[in-house]
Amino acid sequence: MSSPDAIQLQKILCDTISREGAIGVDHFMSLVLGHPEYGYYMRRDPFGVQGDFITAPEISQLFGEMIGIWLVDMWMQMGQPEPFILLEAGPGRGTLMADILRVSKEFCAAAQIHLLEMSPVLGKKQKAALGAYKVNWHTGFSSVPDHAPIFFVANEFFDALPFRQFVYRGLPRWCERKIELDSNYKFTFVEHDCGSFDPVAGLNLSLPEIGKVVEISSERAEFMAQLARKIKVQNGAGLIIDYGHKFSGYGNTFQALYKHTKVDVLSHIGDADFTSHVDFAALKNVCTKFDIEVSDIIGQGDFLRNIGIYLRAEHLAKNASAQQRGTLEKSLHRLTYSGEMGTLFKVMGIYSHANTLNPAGFN
Ligand code: SAH
Repeated sequence: MSSPDAIQLQKILCDTISREGAIGVDHFMSLVLGHPEYGYYMRRDPFGVQGDFITAPEISQLFGEMIGIWLVDMWMQMGQPEPFILLEAGPGRGTLMADILRVSKEFCAAAQIHLLEMSPVLGKKQKAALGAYKVNWHTGFSSVPDHAPIFFVANEFFDALPFRQFVYRGLPRWCERKIELDSNYKFTFVEHDCGSFDPVAGLNLSLPEIGKVVEISSERAEFMAQLARKIKVQNGAGLIIDYGHKFSGYGNTFQALYKHTKVDVLSHIGDADFTSHVDFAALKNVCTKFDIEVSDIIGQGDFLRNIGIYLRAEHLAKNASAQQRGTLEKSLHRLTYSGEMGTLFKVMGIYSHANTLNPAGFN
């Protein structure tokens, strides 16, 4: 049974498709996740046991502390500019930002906190989590100030930005996968011939086998471009953490998560989260165009281990009860092990090269 909000959303999708014809995965995704009234993120807190998925900052404070250490280190390497802009995109419940701000008093005192968030419900959660600080909210880049260096973080944000899917049907034909209504008014995938349009032009990819899918996201590239431009002009550094791959490639990675279980992307529309793998190579290309530095792209497990998550966990364990130690162990396992979030999640560091910076954690 769909929730009342999801039913409204599905009606809006039906109307849109009846009016405009089949819609691309990008259009579908932005309506389902971000429709101002009924979008998945706009009306609910999707995290935790009661929700649909759990993210790294919600697993343990250790995650945010390691991200915080990285940011503080870059800030110190840059000569501790004051003030600076501390920007997080897609802050969820505000947990990551709260954990980052606990790492260093000096860093925290110099930071002007800015959050990029589209969801009013999650905005309220962030306000509660960060009540002790002065926080500025934005829905886009244009209002984020440009008077100071910028330090940035995004965890599981880029995967929530829309993308398009194209399927290869043999030389020279690519088709776009779109969402249409079948004769029973059920949502279904269809393929639309792209004519001479080649979605992989400019990508370093050989032609695939017939039936393979490629995912392209101009929204992710555009967001990266705006951020890279800011880092180039204002100086600064940032970390991007997400599901994804180091090299561009083929594969259908569009997924839906409902109550911690993978479901068909068309089966729980409006009640399930959408995700897909982020093409980090594509983001890196954008950064290179804007002449900012990019670190290696490595697994979350390696990054957290390199920064010192085990040392921090040992320190916390010293004063912990047996039960708390058990929870710490479990969290460490989830955050760093290959079969869990350690490999599938990637970390990429970006930074201006006006100063000679040496980002920690990548070697
Ligand atoms: N970083 C958080 C939450 C990840 S979920 C964590 O790790 O727990 C994705 C977050 O991005 C949510 O806060 C969602 O509301 C926000 N979001 C998704 N698309 C967005 C967009 N286009 N603009 C601004 N925020 C967006």
